[in-house]
Amino acid sequence: MTMLFGRPGETELSVTRTDLDETCPSCGSGAVQGYPLLEVTGWCLVARCADCLHVLRREPSPTPFGFSYVPYSAHLKEL
Ligand SMILES: [Zn+2]
Repeated sequence: MTMLFGRPGETELSVTRTDLDETCPSCGSGAVQGYPLLEVTGWCLVARCADCLHVLRREPSPTPFGFSYVPYSAHLKEL
């Protein structure tokens, strides 16, 4: 069996989160962070409150350089 990707060396994988200068409309916290996310519909950029997990925004994003993953939903769109 051929492995397309090697086993990660880290015990836990994480994504870099960027602190955004925004206030959460749900709890009033200033701990709003932005980060990329891969959903079933493809990549998107998310702005989420780190305290109450309220999602402020979720915007479709182009596939990051170096990734070739095509989401399954791309094959389900009507022609
Ligand atoms: Zn919040």
